Amino acid sequence: MTIVPALQAFFGTASQDHRRWWGPVAVGIAYYLGAVLGVKASVMSEGIAIFWPPNAFLLAGFLLNPLRMWPAYALAAVPAEIAADLPTFQLHQALLFVAVNILEALIAAGLIKLTCRWPFRLDTLRQVAMFGLFALIVASGVAGLFGAAVYVTTSADTVSFWSEWRIWWFGDSLGLLTITPVLLGWLQVQSNLWDTPPADRPFEAALLLAATLLVGLWVFSLPDYLTTRYPASPILMLPLTIWAAARFGLRGAASLNLLIAMIAIAGTVAGRGHFVSMNQADNVLRLQEYLAALAFSSLALAALLQELQQQNVRLRALSRAVETVYAGIVITDPTSQDNPIIYVNKGFEAITGYRRRDAIGRNPRFLQDPGADAHKIQALRSAIEQRQRIRCTLRNRRKNGSLFYNRMTIDPVLDEAGRVSHFIGVLHDITDIVAGEQALRNAHRELELINLDLENRIEQRTRELKSANEQLAMLAATDPLTGAYNRRHFMTQANAELKQANRHGRALSLIALDIDHFKQINDHHGHGVGDRILIMLTETVMPILRPRDLFARFGGEEFCVLLPETGVKEAGAIAERLRAAIAELSFSSGNAAPIQFTISAGVAECQPHAFDIDTVLELADRAMYVAKQAGRNTVRIHSPLQAPPRPEPEPA
Ligand code: GH3
Ligand code: MG
Ligand code: MG
Repeated sequence: MTIVPALQAFFGTASQDHRRWWGPVAVGIAYYLGAVLGVKASVMSEGIAIFWPPNAFLLAGFLLNPLRMWPAYALAAVPAEIAADLPTFQLHQALLFVAVNILEALIAAGLIKLTCRWPFRLDTLRQVAMFGLFALIVASGVAGLFGAAVYVTTSADTVSFWSEWRIWWFGDSLGLLTITPVLLGWLQVQSNLWDTPPADRPFEAALLLAATLLVGLWVFSLPDYLTTRYPASPILMLPLTIWAAARFGLRGAASLNLLIAMIAIAGTVAGRGHFVSMNQADNVLRLQEYLAALAFSSLALAALLQELQQQNVRLRALSRAVETVYAGIVITDPTSQDNPIIYVNKGFEAITGYRRRDAIGRNPRFLQDPGADAHKIQALRSAIEQRQRIRCTLRNRRKNGSLFYNRMTIDPVLDEAGRVSHFIGVLHDITDIVAGEQALRNAHRELELINLDLENRIEQRTRELKSANEQLAMLAATDPLTGAYNRRHFMTQANAELKQANRHGRALSLIALDIDHFKQINDHHGHGVGDRILIMLTETVMPILRPRDLFARFGGEEFCVLLPETGVKEAGAIAERLRAAIAELSFSSGNAAPIQFTISAGVAECQPHAFDIDTVLELADRAMYVAKQAGRNTVRIHSPLQAPPRPEPEPA
């Protein structure tokens, strides 16, 4: 139906555009018609108004519009009231009445605006209650005091002040209750989807309308209060208003209330129906009571159902969302014996393999693996007992018996009073992650073993290299034939010793020795014998020397001995000892006659800070030649007197 949106657009209530001039004009016209109807149609022969509609239009104008528009709506009531009242009342009375009516609508709208969510849609039970309290009791009641005062003071009526007050209050109240909700329902876009206009179910709406008209006209048109009215009771309207509230929301309930009120009032005014009796004042009271109770309860029911429906929609969305979550969700009820499961989602079923019906009613411990960590189980149990959050990873078993690692968080859920009403557990199957971690740990351990092996092998290789190096160094430092040091090594060591000797002022001596007539030995016995004699010499010399002494083969059959911390005398003695030891040697090979050989040696001491090794070597060599010249197999010591004369500087 497009008429509802069109109406809403017309009055600017579908949007924020409330600045339409025809809003107040429409309310003015409605006010006028309502007043005429109120004055003419609902006044019974005793002059008692059953209901007063104009204020309902004014209140709707206020409730449908922002505060700044309220003066325009209030002003629209003034000419309407005057126009409606003048045939019956005087101008000053009309002005006083309209002032009281505006006051009434202002009190109602003001209190509602102060206490309720805006826009005011009457779609919660609280809003219906506030509407009842502020509009139907406070505003109408207070305005009734002023209205009654105006009546009593300005008219010649004999009705008492409190009767006038009650007439005003009940009439206005009934008007507000039956008309304002209709306008709020139809002229506002309703907030929720469920509250569809009746047009969405036109057949059901038509059926309800027809039933209401049928039953209403039947109940309220029975001619005479003396005839038996059973079963035409006004209570028959109740199921119809429940139907309207349940199926058509605020619009349905409010509209049906108005329709029933019109039928009931029309019937009663015409002297028909249930509420007609001997006493007309009584009739009006009972009718008002009946209509108020019926209308208010159906509005409350509509709002309540709407709230429940909204809550339901939210809960269903929440439930679907929880159902869809990939993680397993378990809810338990700690207020029941053994904290049983009351809910599991699909994620739980997928992870554990247990169906919902398998799990519900059991304590979640049925998931635990018998081999689970006892400490963790204990921690879990004490957290539950102390109503605290806990996060842990447990070994669990699926329904098919397979193991899985369950990382879960369990939280206590508090109710409105702050007590723990439930526990919610969120489960994650982290078996893959645990397996991955295990594989990583294994790989790490393997790597460590490989590393250890590698280190061992490197150590082994290093040792081998070191010994090879040492061997190489040895080879580089020694003479391959005799095993004595070679000249190069000797020179390096000798220079180092010389430095030491110079630093500490210690003596250092050298012996140069050469085999006598070695050429002949070679010539007579062969080179091989010569070589073995060289070896023999080395083997004889070495044990005689001290460990720090250095014995080297300089080449051919020439050798050198370095004697640290040894003066020339002592060195001479050592040279003599060597010479004597060698002279006693006798080399024999095969059947040949034994061969004897001798050496000649020269000794020199290194004067601190005066000589380098080469010089000392030269001096020792010279001494050795002197020994050769002296007939061989002897030792000669270089004395400083025999030092080579320094070359005279050339005359310029
Ligand atoms: P002198 O008493 O004057 O020293 O006489 P000599 O024959 O020893 O003379 P010289 O020192 O000049 O002779 C060195 C000889 O040493 C020459 C060579 O035949 C021999 N010779 C040098 N090196 C080796 C070697 O490695 N093995 C052998 N068997 N003989 C060598
Ligand atoms: Mg020689
Ligand atoms: Mg020689």
